[in-house]
Amino acid sequence: MSDEFSRIEEIKRRLLTDSNEVQITIGDDGAVLTPSDASQILSVDAQVEGIHFCRDFATWNDIGYRSFVAALSDLAAMGAQPRVALVSLILPIEFADNDLYCLIDGISEAATAYRSPVVGGNLSAGAQMSITTTVIGQSRKEALTRNGARPGDAIYLTGRVGRAALGLRCLQNDKEARGIDFVHCWRRPRARIAEGLKLARLASAAIDISDGLLQDLSHVCRASNVNAEINSDAIPLDETYCDLAKELGHYPLALALTGGEDYELLFTAPRDTPIEGLGTRIGRIVEGTGKVVVLDERKRVLTFKNAGYRHWQNK
Ligand SMILES: [Mg+2]
Repeated sequence: MSDEFSRIEEIKRRLLTDSNEVQITIGDDGAVLTPSDASQILSVDAQVEGIHFCRDFATWNDIGYRSFVAALSDLAAMGAQPRVALVSLILPIEFADNDLYCLIDGISEAATAYRSPVVGGNLSAGAQMSITTTVIGQSRKEALTRNGARPGDAIYLTGRVGRAALGLRCLQNDKEARGIDFVHCWRRPRARIAEGLKLARLASAAIDISDGLLQDLSHVCRASNVNAEINSDAIPLDETYCDLAKELGHYPLALALTGGEDYELLFTAPRDTPIEGLGTRIGRIVEGTGKVVVLDERKRVLTFKNAGYRHWQNK
């Protein structure tokens, strides 16, 4: 195993890219950003082994990639263009060089794909492996926030939900080959940056779905002080997804509404807004105090055991 300084040199070599966004990049005590007159948007996300990922289910390359996308997804939800990122790694003492470089290559791949170079970070030893990614983005329009939803607005969803959660369940049940497309959604999620940039001038509120649609929508409802009504039959579900979810013992709709890590965007907009095919309408905002209600096709209220993922549950 290499010593700390040669590891850092190798990491630098793998991450170094030319970028107009910085005047000084990895290698000094700090990075220097190129001045910009746009609003700067900052966010940080930590992925911890055993909580957010498990090394049995993904390669280090995938783990690096998805940790970076998870952080960028918050910029997408704010309608921001990524600029640069900082990555802090905590590695167990015995963590092998080769695993570390696979992880860095996964991070580098996502950083290149989303044009958000890693310009600094930190490497430390610790009991539990974790990856903490700080992202900096910018917006020349007003940032998209959670608190602008108003009664009468329609609720939209980009893409489909439940697919990453189904992929994870396939892995947990030894059905990787059977559900490979869904496994891919979990291992290699996408951040909806391009959609977020367009929504910045269209949506009244937005959030990314990291912990489950119902839970993340409830954050929008509380921030906006409104209620949401979701039409269960408007949630886009395809046959392959429904068949496999049922086969694994899950109610497809419940998994779609409460499963996390799809990193799709949930947004609201006044009903007549031309949303240019950016999402599917799944419900509406009504007066209220922060609740989310799911209605079936006969307007009966459906209830779900959990709204989504939480690190801490009430006892
Ligand atoms: Mg978020």
